[in-house]
Order: sequence, then structure tokens, then C-alpha cells
Amino acid sequence: MRIVPVPVLLDNYAYLVIAESGAAAVVDPSEAAPVLRAVEREGATLAAIWNTHHHWDHVGGNRDLLIAHPDLRVVGYAGDRARIPGITDPVEDGAQFDFGGGMVRVIFVPAHTSGHVAYHLPLQNAVFTGDTLFAGGCGRLFEGDARMMSDSLGRLTALSADTRVFCGHEYTEKNLRFALTLEPSNAELAAKYRRVEAQVGRGEPTVPTTIAEELATNPFLRPSSEELRRVVLAKFPDCPDDPIAVFAKTRELKDSF
Ligand SMILES: [Zn+2]
Repeated sequence: MRIVPVPVLLDNYAYLVIAESGAAAVVDPSEAAPVLRAVEREGATLAAIWNTHHHWDHVGGNRDLLIAHPDLRVVGYAGDRARIPGITDPVEDGAQFDFGGGMVRVIFVPAHTSGHVAYHLPLQNAVFTGDTLFAGGCGRLFEGDARMMSDSLGRLTALSADTRVFCGHEYTEKNLRFALTLEPSNAELAAKYRRVEAQVGRGEPTVPTTIAEELATNPFLRPSSEELRRVVLAKFPDCPDDPIAVFAKTRELKDSF
């Protein structure tokens, strides 16, 4: 099984998951043309779409891909079947399905949208997190609150530390620049920022990251950081000193960063 990032739109990632047989699934095709070109370049055969959530920059290519390949299976969250174009395989939290001889497990991670899911491939040690967990950040809270997002992120960080995280956008550099304003003394964060700056300079993707790297550098996963807590509470003297309140304020700061 191979995983190939496909840059789409300005800063989105679709991903091809290509089985030994050549069958490919595409995660979050915002547009069809670059996906079809990548499928051809890789010598694969498109068999399925896995959508993490309903936003147009994740499902925008569904219809055109279905015109090119009418037999595609389209997997998405059952509760969002009205918002996922062409859905054929509605799934719930904990659903498992086979792809190319490997197992795919659905993890319900709402808050960015109320029907957001992640796709976990335990054998490949990989998870597709859409707009819930980013390298160095998390999605905006469009259809959920801080507690819901914090719980959803907790379900992802419960995966093994070496799980590779494939997220929906190339936001890493800006996310880490924000993170450094909250944890200027986090050496691992500073080192990752330098690494990411170099990758971006070379025009390389900064994905995948790993759960371990995120736990060490992502401000939305660091309620244990004294420095982060101190910096956030200094900006919001009325904020209660509890992890969810600090998380909410961190999200608020990031929204306007
Ligand atoms: Zn989104």
C-alpha cells in the first residue's frame, strides 16, 4: 500500500491510497483533474472516494470523478449523507471496511463540522485527519465547540505515537509560527519550525507528521505545557484556569493570527 499526496486548489491535500493490486482510493478530492492525472501517473485504477467532511474543498471533485468512474464507492459519515455528493457507503463511528487487503477504520471526530470522520489504516500506521488535526494545529470550530474538538483530538492522539498523520491542508508553517508565540521555549517546536521552513523553501510537502510530533509541538494538544497556559492566561485574565477554557482561548487567538 502506498500513500501519495496530491496537492489540490491553493493549499489542500487530496491523497491517493494505492493497494498492491493498483486499486486506488482518494481521500478528499476537492477537484477531479489533478486527482485523475495523479491516478494515471501512478498507473492506478480509481475505485473509491473517502470523504472526511462535507466542505466543498474536500468533496468538490466527487461529481466529476463519478462522471469519469461511475462505479466508484463513495464513503462518508452517515449523518452527513445529505451533504456528501454521490455517497454510496454511509459509515458510522467505529465502522471497518476492507480496502486492497488492508483494514480501514472510521473514527468520528466532530467539531470542525458535526459529521467529520478520520480514516485510520492500522496496518499502514496512517490516519487521514481532514480538517480536525493539522500539523501544528486543528480545524476551526464551525459546527462544534472547544470541548468537542478537544475530545475529537484525544481520539486521534490515542493512536500509537508513530502513526503517520495525513491532514487536509498545508498550513504547517503558519501553525508553527503561531505555536511559537505561545511556547517560545519549546525546543522541539523551534526545531520543527526550522525543518518545516526549509521544506517549504524547497517546495516540499510538510506532511505526513506523526502523533508523537504533534503531542510535542501542537498547541492544541499541550494542556500540560505550563508555558502555554501562562501565556494564554496572561492574555485573558478572566479566563478560568482549566484545560478546555485555555483550549478555547488558544483557538480564539489562532482565529485572528
Ligand atoms: Zn473543512
